[in-house]
Amino acid sequence: MSNQAISKIEKLKSEHNAIILAHNYQLPEVQDIADLLGDSLDLAKKAQKTDADNIIFCGVRFMAESAKILNPSKNVIIPDMSAVCPMAAMVDAKGLTKLKKENPDAKVVAYINTTADIKAISDICCTSANGAEIVKSISSEKIIFVPDQNLGAYIKRSFPDKEMIIWPGFCSTHHNIRKEDILKLKKQHPDSEILVHPECRPEIIDIADYAFSTNGMVNHAKNSDVNEFIIGTEKDLCYRLKKENPDKSFYPIRYAICPNMKKITLEKVLNSLETLEPKVSLSEDVIKKAKIPLKKMMDIGRGG
Ligand code: SF4
Repeated sequence: MSNQAISKIEKLKSEHNAIILAHNYQLPEVQDIADLLGDSLDLAKKAQKTDADNIIFCGVRFMAESAKILNPSKNVIIPDMSAVCPMAAMVDAKGLTKLKKENPDAKVVAYINTTADIKAISDICCTSANGAEIVKSISSEKIIFVPDQNLGAYIKRSFPDKEMIIWPGFCSTHHNIRKEDILKLKKQHPDSEILVHPECRPEIIDIADYAFSTNGMVNHAKNSDVNEFIIGTEKDLCYRLKKENPDKSFYPIRYAICPNMKKITLEKVLNSLETLEPKVSLSEDVIKKAKIPLKKMMDIGRGG
């Protein structure tokens, strides 16, 4: 896209008092025009604090919905409404309501990767950065965790005495990362550290040096004395890592791509700034109910 178009984006941003928030898995050119780049927790916090009237959210829909829930008076615009998280769609309100009825003594922890409807019937939210901290804050010995089986199993490692009923959802981008591919990279780069996302399968977490949220990886890479890292998450996080640490090396899993994150392009961002569409719209009732577990998380989880 031309420099002229990028200047147009900047001009429209200031005309409309707009801010561009982008997830760490966005295309490199979208990362480059963002006012803030981050993981779900980081972006939710930024959305809560912004003075902008218009939030252009470059990520998937549940993230833009979270921004709307936390800022109902603002316009939250997602440049492509069809950018959804397939894992968030794996849990449905009917099924979760049934599970809650069968387990009336359980508290429901919803990963932030859920729709507003699911948040509205959950007790508290969490992200991959603060999952253990959130579960620790719950006095109930029984927890229903939705929707990611891998993150749920990873959190469970820290709480062997808690009963966790884990929904069998998964993120294909992370679930499909193969152990042999990580080991192959390790063989090629024996001095590297292996950093993986907790949405990866347990056997991947077992061979990693650390399991982190994407912002956790960003902070670790910056502060570590190690110079080489194998990155077990969506491959475009490596663009940010390399940009912020030009002297270090990052080895991505080349096929770990989230197709929905890639639906947001610079052209669509420009179009959204020109039209201030498409806007995220949620009923007042859903906003009111979904805000409770999100706010509870923000009050507890320090995140990363
Ligand atoms: S990477 Fe996975 S969890 Fe994240 S938005 Fe894509 S499908 Fe959903």
